[in-house]
Amino acid sequence: MSTVPTITLNDGRQIPQLGFGVFQIDPSETAEATAKALEIGYRHIDTAEMYGNEQGVGEAVRASGLDRADVWVTSKLNNGFHEPDTARRAFDDTLSALGLDYVDLFLIHWPLPTRYDGDFVSTWKVLEEFQRDGRARSIGVSNFQVAHLERLARECDVVPAVNQIEAHPYFTNDEVRAYGQQHGIVTEAWSPIAQGQVLDDATIGAIAERVGRTPAQVVLRWHLQRGDVVFPKSVTPSRMQENFELFDFELSADDVEQITALHRGEDGRTGPNPDEFDYIPG
Ligand code: NDP
Repeated sequence: MSTVPTITLNDGRQIPQLGFGVFQIDPSETAEATAKALEIGYRHIDTAEMYGNEQGVGEAVRASGLDRADVWVTSKLNNGFHEPDTARRAFDDTLSALGLDYVDLFLIHWPLPTRYDGDFVSTWKVLEEFQRDGRARSIGVSNFQVAHLERLARECDVVPAVNQIEAHPYFTNDEVRAYGQQHGIVTEAWSPIAQGQVLDDATIGAIAERVGRTPAQVVLRWHLQRGDVVFPKSVTPSRMQENFELFDFELSADDVEQITALHRGEDGRTGPNPDEFDYIPG
């Protein structure tokens, strides 16, 4: 049923390039929103322990009637649980909250270079264990900068399959993306429409009008043509549907360039700089 293309990861597995993100969806509404997304045709759900809504995601996946193998489920390690034994316990808890015996992808949510004596390496080695025992079919990182990825390359065996980073027209994050391209790490773009902030942009509006699509569709299509994975979040069924209709039009190379040129450098970030971010839930 799905028209969504897949991307082959460095471990050989195929990830659907378009998914559904559930950050900031109230835990009590997550099962319903996820069920709606699955009904529309999404087959990739992006959650995290820190979103507090893994349970709703798992409930919807299990109730969907879909084969488990046909739905891609990603979750992420809580910032408070980087120490190896704690990470092992946290991963058990993630699987039991989801009610699943494996996740398709498990990520270190943030590198936290100013916490844990800057040691995200031993955390990564624990994710390598989860992959070896089959409970995380693929493993990756999120919010890793080039220096963090270089350190994993020097000190660890497995190259992350993905790096999930902030990326949208106002913050293209192209240096980190380029490192990924050179080293077989797929970029997943979080906050792909900058939580709505890019939708009133005049350049994007003009392209949208010309191609007869909405600004959100144009921006999401721009991500897909750059080769990144995206998972826009919406609790609004009409937007969930709109965000899924991206495969019957194309942007020209000039459109793509114009949107990329909207980059505002560090000022364009909507989220924190991963070199400084040290948040641990209380
Ligand atoms: P998005 O860029 O996906 O934007 C979501 C916002 O845009 C919501 O307010 C939504 O409103 C609105 N919206 C969605 N579609 C449309 C549309 N077609 N037209 C107009 N408005 C629209 O932001 P997120 O921050 O949620 O990012 C997406 C996903 O990325 C997250 O859900 C999460 O999975 C992941 N993420 C990962 C992070 C990380 O550190 N690894 C950090 C942040 C996000 P409404 O819901 O009311 O319809």
